[in-house]
Amino acid sequence: MGCVLAFFVRARYPVAFKMDLPQEFCKAMEELLGRQWGDFLQGFQAPAFKGVRLNTLKCEEKTLRESLPFPLAPSPFSPLSFYAGADAKVGALPAHHAGMFYSQEPSASSAVTALQPLPGERVLDLCAAPGGKSTQIGALLGGQGLLWSNEVVRGRAEALLSNLERMGVSNAVVSNCPPQQLCGALAGWFDRVLVDAPCSGEGMFRRDPQAIAEWSPQHVQACAQRQRLILDSAAEAVKEGGVLVYSTCTFSLAENEGTCAAFLEAHPEFVPEAIPAAFGRPAFDGGPARRIFPMDGGEGHFVARFRRVGANPQKRAPFAPAAPDRQRQEAGALYGELFTDSPEGLIGVFGGKALLLPTGLPDLSGLHVLRAGVELAQAKGSRLEPAHGVFMSRPKGSCRRALDFPSDSPQLLAFLRGEEIDCPEKGYTAVCVNGVVTGFGKASGGRLKNRYPKGLRLRG
Ligand code: SAM
Repeated sequence: MGCVLAFFVRARYPVAFKMDLPQEFCKAMEELLGRQWGDFLQGFQAPAFKGVRLNTLKCEEKTLRESLPFPLAPSPFSPLSFYAGADAKVGALPAHHAGMFYSQEPSASSAVTALQPLPGERVLDLCAAPGGKSTQIGALLGGQGLLWSNEVVRGRAEALLSNLERMGVSNAVVSNCPPQQLCGALAGWFDRVLVDAPCSGEGMFRRDPQAIAEWSPQHVQACAQRQRLILDSAAEAVKEGGVLVYSTCTFSLAENEGTCAAFLEAHPEFVPEAIPAAFGRPAFDGGPARRIFPMDGGEGHFVARFRRVGANPQKRAPFAPAAPDRQRQEAGALYGELFTDSPEGLIGVFGGKALLLPTGLPDLSGLHVLRAGVELAQAKGSRLEPAHGVFMSRPKGSCRRALDFPSDSPQLLAFLRGEEIDCPEKGYTAVCVNGVVTGFGKASGGRLKNRYPKGLRLRG
């Protein structure tokens, strides 16, 4: 922070000011917030908001509360989103491994509340990694319709895939495609599109000092430029009558109201629309978008919603399933060995992996798809070995064999560390925490051989 402004800010708000914020940022925020600038600075003294989002694909609120060692308080941003204690360390909890919740700052759930996805719809999350918003969309779709989660950075797309798997989302496609290419190929295909855009991250300042270090007025302008290009692509993917939601975790006028104004000028086929919720406060341009500041109970978000009123016929051919073959039949038989219900949708076999494909897929060719649906099994020599993903996507009641443990059970923790545990069953057996599947193993001779993926195991 420039020393002149540092002195100015410290002199005016001596108790509130602790963090070195960039001078130009302080100046812009003071202009934006006027008399509330003092409240904003005061907020920087307090610890950042932390929260968890209930995953209704895996459990009910009661089960989540019973599985957590800390209380939850409702947030105004989504009925699924709760404040959790600032010191809560959540990643190592069995309930986290089981996908009962996603660790998410509460105001980050506001964008999907604005998107309002409904079961049966086709929804695109264009900038999706690591998956906070995609997993929320997956929960609201409830397994019906299709979620397409795209992430342009390959390593981040892998993390997205892993989070969707942990949360048991069965009807998602994960791709690693440039927005222009993806949205051009799937023009007019989606009922709802979310652009949770890369931004200057001013709403991350309290949590992430790196966001402060990377901030500059030039970075803000570069982000605004990039956001316009991403929105130009996203517009193509929305069908006539469909909804587009734009969100950021920054406060900048240029990246929020400025990007929206540029979008509406370039795209008269879209109109702004009110957000079906009353969180935060109105945007600064008098439009229907909403802003969330720390004084509104969240780290910081901007959410705008548009509706496409112009025509946009879809051109993509539907997915063409190959004829049934031996591998497909074997995969179907394996499913029957593991579960009591029938698989929904088609079984596809690609490159030695059997997948439970979502229904209603488009032609996937050329779209850098990492995964469509749920991994059922992988070929090991001439045999098929069940995959972790299929167990994560099924309720305990569908599993032919299951062990169930309370969340503080030493046996459960041993399983999550990758150890063998006692098991009276014989064959592939799900392992559950408070009735929610968290993995599986293969039982014989009174022991369960561990199949919990190495990269997910608890350490220590
Ligand atoms: N929606 C995610 C969630 O809730 O977990 C967070 C998304 S983050 C704010 C923005 C994402 O956009 C990052 O994963 C980043 O890699 C990606 N991104 C960066 N440049 C991009 C570009 N030019 N086009 C599309 N996405 C981009």
